[in-house]
Amino acid sequence: MSDPSCKACSGTWPGSDHFIADLGLSMAYLHEDQYFPGWAVVVFKRHAIELFHLAPTERIQLMEEVSQFAKVLAETFDAKKMNYGLLGNQMPHIHWHLIPRLSNDPAPLQPVWRIPHDRVTLSADRIQATIARIKKRL
Ligand SMILES: [Zn+2]
Repeated sequence: MSDPSCKACSGTWPGSDHFIADLGLSMAYLHEDQYFPGWAVVVFKRHAIELFHLAPTERIQLMEEVSQFAKVLAETFDAKKMNYGLLGNQMPHIHWHLIPRLSNDPAPLQPVWRIPHDRVTLSADRIQATIARIKKRL
């Protein structure tokens, strides 16, 4: 089940060059903005908008995938705290933002979307090196 007007379903977001791993019901990608190092997104494979639209078994498995992947990110980036964001206002297809918040975080009490910053876009080599670091712990 997919929605052709949806960026996740049509494969236009996130970019395939940011793909990290297939987690089962979801896929993990490095976020294109690395101002917060290790910022990743976990995208549900089929089109669904709300958690309450999922079957209970899917919801349980998705939360397990999100939790396990968050642990990998926390260990890889030595996070002081993990942030979890499931918004979908801009793209209504279930995707979790998983954001390691590090000890040198510029504003640790704020959600990342409230922190003004220039987007940090890594080179293709650095994207692949960052993905390789994460995959070592999967
Ligand atoms: Zn979709």
